[in-house]
Amino acid sequence: MTIDIENGNLRILITGGAGFIGGCLIRRLLDESNAKVFNLDKISYASDLSIIQESPNNLRHFLIKVNLNDFEKTSLAIKESDPDLIFHLAAESHVDRSIENAEPFLQSNIIGTFNLLESARIHWESLSPSRKARFRFLHVSTDEVFGSLGPKGKFSENTPYDPRSPYSATKAGSDHLCNAWLHTFNLPIIRTNCSNNYGPYQFPEKLIPIIIFKALNQSTIPIYGDGTNIRDWLFVEDHIDALILAMKKGEIGANYCIGGSNEKTNLEIAEFICNFLDQKYPFNSPYSKLIKFVKDRPGHDKRYAIDSSLIMIELGWKAKNSFEEGLKKTIEWYLKNISWYESTQMRSGYKGERIGLSKNAKNN
Ligand code: NAD
Repeated sequence: MTIDIENGNLRILITGGAGFIGGCLIRRLLDESNAKVFNLDKISYASDLSIIQESPNNLRHFLIKVNLNDFEKTSLAIKESDPDLIFHLAAESHVDRSIENAEPFLQSNIIGTFNLLESARIHWESLSPSRKARFRFLHVSTDEVFGSLGPKGKFSENTPYDPRSPYSATKAGSDHLCNAWLHTFNLPIIRTNCSNNYGPYQFPEKLIPIIIFKALNQSTIPIYGDGTNIRDWLFVEDHIDALILAMKKGEIGANYCIGGSNEKTNLEIAEFICNFLDQKYPFNSPYSKLIKFVKDRPGHDKRYAIDSSLIMIELGWKAKNSFEEGLKKTIEWYLKNISWYESTQMRSGYKGERIGLSKNAKNN
């Protein structure tokens, strides 16, 4: 069955829709469908609604401020929003914060996913046969659940789980819960595991925005370890294409790996951004002079790479943005939106400091 997301007059619930990827997904749904979009989010330091508020169709967006840790409130939110489809993105998402304090990650990513699955199951069982047949629950996860690669090979849907950080362990836990609710209760679940995203509106604790803002402020650009850790980067709009396609046409029970085939070391990312800023925004010395290697992240995974063949062959997905195009668009967006960065800093209280080292190690 193909789901008509664009013209189906659907009620779509997104969890974590005030976050970076969730906001981008909601904006797309508001702009390109006639759906009513319900945004269940606890509204945390990482939340920002600007991308949604800037949509001319934002009257079809309904914010439900609920913490998934609370089963009663989660159940009520599902009952009242009465969704045809659920995209589950809410999660604590920053590895360094999970090293500093893992507990909120267990609460949101594991207990929160359990509460949502149970609420969704009760809701799904109460639907009419036609709505029941169309209902889907799409769980958005990460490639980090698969662990760390050596110099060769790629993660795929068949890679065994081997999470190594508190963040990835809790995301792995949420994936397993989804699998259990699929097989035990037949809840129609589709799962995705995506590589590192980047793009406009990403909270400035993540690698790409932090490099941009440290450079613009003429501050030290910290690169963990020797800078050779590799991530497979994907422009966020290409991830949104994949999520919508997986929801529309994905097979119930399937798991789709999504990646950009853009393997870059952290040092290459920093150098790309510095070179771009040298041309766009020249300063009296090259920005790359600000790069400094700092103490590595504990348990820092060496390399991630994704084999996206399944979603490409089965669903016809392909990333539209090359790494260079996507990163240029992103840097240009941040340059035009310095006020967004300043207000995000004010609102969240996060000023670019290092997170996730023990107190003794912080000064190294
Ligand atoms: P984000 O941190 O920018 O946003 C997460 C949102 O979830 C926030 O608005 C937060 O308030 C909300 N949230 C967290 N816990 C909640 C709870 N208990 N109840 C209600 N709301 C809660 O994250 P993101 O980068 O947009 O990532 C979204 C999802 O995609 C996550 O599940 C993440 O694991 C996954 N993912 C992210 C990436 C990436 O590179 N950013 C890559 C692959 C997968």
